[in-house]
This record gives sequence, structure tokens and C-alpha cells, in this order.
Amino acid sequence: MSSTLVLQPHNGRPYLGATPDPAAATRDAMAAAKSGALPLVEIFYSLQGEGLRTGQATVFVRFAGCNLACEFCDTDFRVQRLGTPEEIADEIASLAPDCRWVCFTGGEPTIQDLQALSDLLHARGYHLQMETNGTRPQPGWGIDHVTVSPKQPQGGRLDSWYEANAAEFKYVVDDDADLARALDGARGHGRMTFLQPNALNKDAVALCIEAVKAHPALFRLSLQTHKFLDIR
Ligand code: SF4
Repeated sequence: MSSTLVLQPHNGRPYLGATPDPAAATRDAMAAAKSGALPLVEIFYSLQGEGLRTGQATVFVRFAGCNLACEFCDTDFRVQRLGTPEEIADEIASLAPDCRWVCFTGGEPTIQDLQALSDLLHARGYHLQMETNGTRPQPGWGIDHVTVSPKQPQGGRLDSWYEANAAEFKYVVDDDADLARALDGARGHGRMTFLQPNALNKDAVALCIEAVKAHPALFRLSLQTHKFLDIR
């Protein structure tokens, strides 16, 4: 099964390429984790395409499963294989011997226990980024760069730890209601905040640009550069 993320609206939503049955995929991921290994979708080497670290070479470790099932999700987070922390760390080193950044993504990485993997990667000199929906209590893995993409409309309540500690917030914006939530959020937590037009939709891009111009102290624009560059 390919895990390439291609945005193709299907009757508007959901997107092709998304997990067919998110609840079942997450149950499978949690069951697989009981083996002691971590349930993985993929590990790949690319450039970070979004947010503050845009353009920086990064090894992405995509974990299976998510505690939410957003209608706009474009990620297939079904388990593809398992890996121990040692196996994952060795694969990262083999894929990109000189790269020092690793990004945990998903799905939702905080539903797994990544303490041992985080410790091992830190011991090997890596910096760790994690992309999370911010709904679960902060796991205390010493992540160096936490990126939160809040999903309140999709039922995700933001854990307050992130409001004080996240390196950046990234709000996916489709319409005025999304923008209003981003405005509320940014005014509340005061952290670095990106507006990211959903699926590079032209109207959403225009809405985000106007919002960044109207609120220059609050917002920056984040484009999914990897998608229009057609890289991973
Ligand atoms: S939180 Fe992220 S990975 Fe999970 S369903 Fe929503 S968009 Fe997909």
C-alpha cells in the first residue's frame, strides 16, 4: 500500500489517500504496540515542508494510529510494520547519516510510548520535532520542537501544556470559522502561529494571506511546500 500523500478531494471530503477506517487502524496500531515494538507507517528522509522548520532536512518517522478522525485528513495511518527503538534509530542513521533532525508524526505520535526511542535518539545526538494535535497530556519525552495543529472542531480539546510550551501552532484554514478559531487561539496562547490553507485551496490561500496582513503580529503563512514541490 502506498502512503504517498496526494491531495485529491473526493466529493469534497474525505481525501483519497486518507485512512479508510481510522478507528480500526488505531485499534490495530494499539494492539500491535503491545508486542513491545512501535507501530510504523513509514520512515523517510525529506525536507520539512511546513512551519518554522520549513526547508530543513529531516527524517520523518510516521507512527500508526490517531485519537481523532478529521474529515480533511489526508494521511493513511494504518500499520505497515513494527520497529524497536534500536531498529528505528539504525534505519534513521542509515537513511541520512549526516541529518540531525528527526520528526515524529502520524497519525498522532503521542498515543504511543516514545520515551525509549526519544532517549536513544537524543543519546545519538539528534534533535527531535513532534507534530501533534495537542489533545493528549504532554508525554515528557524532552521533544526539542513541538508543533501543534489544533483540531477543536474535530473534537480535539487542546491540552494546556502546549499553550505554554509549543514551539509553534499551525492552524489548518478552510474558511472564516477556521480563521476565527485561529485568531482566538493565537490571542490566547501568544505562541508562534501559522495559518495553513487547507489543501492549498485558492480561496483558503487568499483568506490566509489577508489574515496575515491584517494581523502581522499574530500570524505567519505556512504553505505545504513539499506538496507543490512534489516531494515527500
Ligand atoms: S489529527 Fe491529524 S492525523 Fe489525526 S485524523 Fe486529524 S488530521 Fe488526521
